[in-house]
Amino acid sequence: MRILLLSDIHANLEALEACLAAAPSFDRVLNLGDVVGYGASPNEVSDRARGLGKIFVRGNHDKAATGLMDIDDFNPMAAAAAVWTREQLTPENLDWLRSLPQGPLQAEDIPDVQLVHGSPADEDAYVVSLGDALAPLIAATVPAIFFGHTHLQGAFFANGPAADGFRPEYRTVGQAESIAFQLKPEARYMLNPGSVGQPRDGDWRAAFALFDTDAQIFHFHRAPYNLKSAQDRIFEAKLPPRLATRLAAGR
Ligand code: ZN
Repeated sequence: MRILLLSDIHANLEALEACLAAAPSFDRVLNLGDVVGYGASPNEVSDRARGLGKIFVRGNHDKAATGLMDIDDFNPMAAAAAVWTREQLTPENLDWLRSLPQGPLQAEDIPDVQLVHGSPADEDAYVVSLGDALAPLIAATVPAIFFGHTHLQGAFFANGPAADGFRPEYRTVGQAESIAFQLKPEARYMLNPGSVGQPRDGDWRAAFALFDTDAQIFHFHRAPYNLKSAQDRIFEAKLPPRLATRLAAGR
């Protein structure tokens, strides 16, 4: 089976469409949360994401935009976007986002994989470093945990007493590219497809991944998208301008 992994789309329609156009053929879509928040196309992205598949976990921005989580802990920029998003969402999309399940989640027919937004023990925790990943890797009940939330594409893994991280290094900064990462049967992994709609690893291109369960290869992907269009929507919506400018830097 070939699984398309999307995370942290953040209401960026242009980035989502670019990922779908760049993705090789796939059988299923798994979504790791933060469908909305920050970007200016919450309804278009919710509609599109809902049509792609049924396996989602919720993100903190999905909770904030639908009133399931207090926005007091959000920075002013994120809070302003959450309030704006709530005003924009149709009742149908609000209900759908509110009903997204909390991770960790396991799909019946993909037994060796767990989905979370942040970390298995805490859906809102950030797994940024190998140090953050060690406890969940040791506690893992499945060989592979797919996670998002940090907007940083990459992997952490433990193999017996050895543990390490992997960050894909691409050749260009403007073309569609992919890097294959082979999983070993004896190791445990935490794998992050990166953020579709607001990457923060210094690469402005939309990030996603494709996992081939038969070959046990996790393909990291980057796809350029219509940045200006996504930015213009944010300016027109009178969202904080930094939400538009940061997209160009991938920060
Ligand atoms: Zn996010």
